[in-house]
Amino acid sequence: MPEIASSVPDELGRFGDFGGRYAPEILVTPLEDLDATYRAVRDDAGFQAELATLFRQYSGRPTPLFHARRLSEHLGGASIYLKREDLLHTGAHKINNCLGQALLARRMGKRRVIAETGAGQHGVATATVCALFDLDCVVYMGSEDIRRQELNVFRMRLLGADVVSVEAGSCTLKEAISEAMRDWAGSFETTHYMLGSALGPHPYPLIVRDFQRVIGVEAREQFLAASGGSLPDLLIACVGGGSNSIGLFHPFLQDGDVAMVGVEAGGRGPGLGDHAARFSGGLPGVLQGTKSYILQDEDGQIALTHSVSAGLDYASVGPEHAWLRDLGRARYTSCTDTDALDAASVLSRYEGIIPALESAHAVAEAIRRAPQAPGKTFVVNLSGRGDKDIGILRENMPELG
Ligand SMILES: *Cc1c(COP(=O)(O)O)cnc(C)c1O
Repeated sequence: MPEIASSVPDELGRFGDFGGRYAPEILVTPLEDLDATYRAVRDDAGFQAELATLFRQYSGRPTPLFHARRLSEHLGGASIYLKREDLLHTGAHKINNCLGQALLARRMGKRRVIAETGAGQHGVATATVCALFDLDCVVYMGSEDIRRQELNVFRMRLLGADVVSVEAGSCTLKEAISEAMRDWAGSFETTHYMLGSALGPHPYPLIVRDFQRVIGVEAREQFLAASGGSLPDLLIACVGGGSNSIGLFHPFLQDGDVAMVGVEAGGRGPGLGDHAARFSGGLPGVLQGTKSYILQDEDGQIALTHSVSAGLDYASVGPEHAWLRDLGRARYTSCTDTDALDAASVLSRYEGIIPALESAHAVAEAIRRAPQAPGKTFVVNLSGRGDKDIGILRENMPELG
């Protein structure tokens, strides 16, 4: 795969035909400043050492790579290993990106941080690092999401963040991103926009991917050590905006024998509006600063999306995934709400691990493939823990009371 070099994206943020910087004129300066700062710290040993220390002492890295023996035996095929991002502080991989961006904000002398959030997970991780670094924190959240996610709203407020309700359109994540961009256009002199996934205008897809690469770097070393020098046959991760998956995949891109599959939200089924499977149901287009695959209707209007897991529920997907998909280096599939709920239940019973519903999509794909893959090894990214989803799990499992 010679075309997959570590230098991608190009200086305009393009991954092949995807990515780029489709931003209003006013945001070009802060985006260029962010890009320049990031390029300076990328090879700065002091910056990287400080981030590594935070990972180790604050958020709990390295996370284990766990051989799920009971689940593997139950499925009777592939050996399944779980990368335990669910054990991190705040319960998911999002803290990796937030710690990195907090150091960037400090380096740029910005004392105020804004962020968007859908389910509230990125908002909680942002509020957490802002408390740690003594930064003012404003989180934009759609009013519908505020209603659905009151516990996370409370957590953010407890951590000292100001949660601002956004009343526009469907009152969910897309509108919250637009509002955060609007704030930034008027505040960038003092404010850093802490974007939560491998999305948005350049340089965000690059920055977020690099801060999440630690997942794959660790998993690769851990697997080599556990197997006595071989690599896994298949990597599996769920894909919302695409940050946990690109974090796992990227350090393996040059390993031609390692296959990778990203799992999108199949929701209630294939009808437009019932899922967030951008690759099977979408077309190339531009949304919120980047070119990628987008769910849209015949007139090019952005479609509504649905998933039982709020973190996978967005109409676009990170541009690097669009590129990897068109190259054929990674494959993308989807699993339904029902399959994800079943997978959460299976993992709970066989391994004593209740996964986030997002991560359960990746587990569902492992469950689907393992019986046909005897002798193969899978690494599944467990991006988060299920505590936040207990209410939804409970509603869907009335037999358990
Ligand atoms: C937010 C979230 C996701 C989806 O985001 P990506 O950027 O695609 O990783 C997946 N899993 C968990 C637990 C999340 O909180």
